[in-house]
Amino acid sequence: MTAGRNGDQALIIVMHPDASPGDVEQVLERLRGVGAETHLSQGPRRTVMGAVGDGSALQQLPWEVFAWVERVVPVLAPFRFVGRGFQPEGTVVEVGGVRIGGGAFTVIAGPCAVENRDQLLATAEAVKSAGASILRGDAFKPRTSPYAFQGLGKEALDLLAEARHRFGLPFVAEVLDPRHVELVAGSADLVRIGARNMSNFPLLAELGRQPKPVMLKRGFTATIEEWLSAAEYIYKEGNHHIVLCERGIRTFETQTRNTLDISAVPVVRSLSHLPVMVDPSHSGGRRALVSPLTLAALAVGADGVLIDVHPTPETALVDGPQAILPAEFAELMERVRAVAAVLGR
Ligand code: PEP
Ligand code: MN
Repeated sequence: MTAGRNGDQALIIVMHPDASPGDVEQVLERLRGVGAETHLSQGPRRTVMGAVGDGSALQQLPWEVFAWVERVVPVLAPFRFVGRGFQPEGTVVEVGGVRIGGGAFTVIAGPCAVENRDQLLATAEAVKSAGASILRGDAFKPRTSPYAFQGLGKEALDLLAEARHRFGLPFVAEVLDPRHVELVAGSADLVRIGARNMSNFPLLAELGRQPKPVMLKRGFTATIEEWLSAAEYIYKEGNHHIVLCERGIRTFETQTRNTLDISAVPVVRSLSHLPVMVDPSHSGGRRALVSPLTLAALAVGADGVLIDVHPTPETALVDGPQAILPAEFAELMERVRAVAAVLGR
């Protein structure tokens, strides 16, 4: 049984040992009724059927009413449009004139949060001159404590727009709340959904209904399949400009803030046509890990990285321990260029 194109789904249907030939025929009829191709395997005790057909038609069949169907096993992933089967060539997402995907290694850098004008403009100028092509900086921060700095809101977006104008850097910012989609997407060139909101399905759908490109971070307990299914929520609403970002998952390891799942990069590239970036800052959670994890991301085939840079990490209101200095960022960019050249990127 082969995987079809255009959102096809493959199922394996295991019949109960006591199912009669009539019961089997009834299921086959329903499968043919929705235009599925079927294949019958009859053993001495069991009958197993394979079916390939339109995913939504197959999923809507009332399996629970077929008493003699013991189990229905989906063979293809629950995501359709973001899968490689739907679109074999890789997607290139354009962010304010900068391309993500298509072989480039795109570096996004800036402070975790916008704290004030001087901090943002100094960082933007530094990352631009070192070679970053997109600025990061958040206006709304998802903080564990409600008493921690929550972000400057609209004031931060205005400062980011000023930095974009002065340094020619498009910017990415997180949106936390469906009520802020218009505000953030109205200003940012790339709207980010953070790890904590990867499964906020109404927020995903809302971003799917607006035109700005979306970066979707992986939830820290999400499987790759769950992550791609979340991307499907955005895609199916009509927004196809989606960039994935691996940012580490929760494991038993305590030496790092999260465990960067570096293998997710080639796995996602094989399953999906969407570009996939890596966040070496929020995954490792430590300044010393940013450089090695960035080079690992480049080597493993990621489409770019998202790096926290701060002029004075010791005074940072958010995530100081993982922020690198502008000078360290410039050094890292040298290394990125050297490794990229070796890799032919
Ligand atoms: C961030 O990039 O600032 C952030 C909050 O990351 P994550 O959603 O991956 O935790
Ligand atoms: Mn952060």
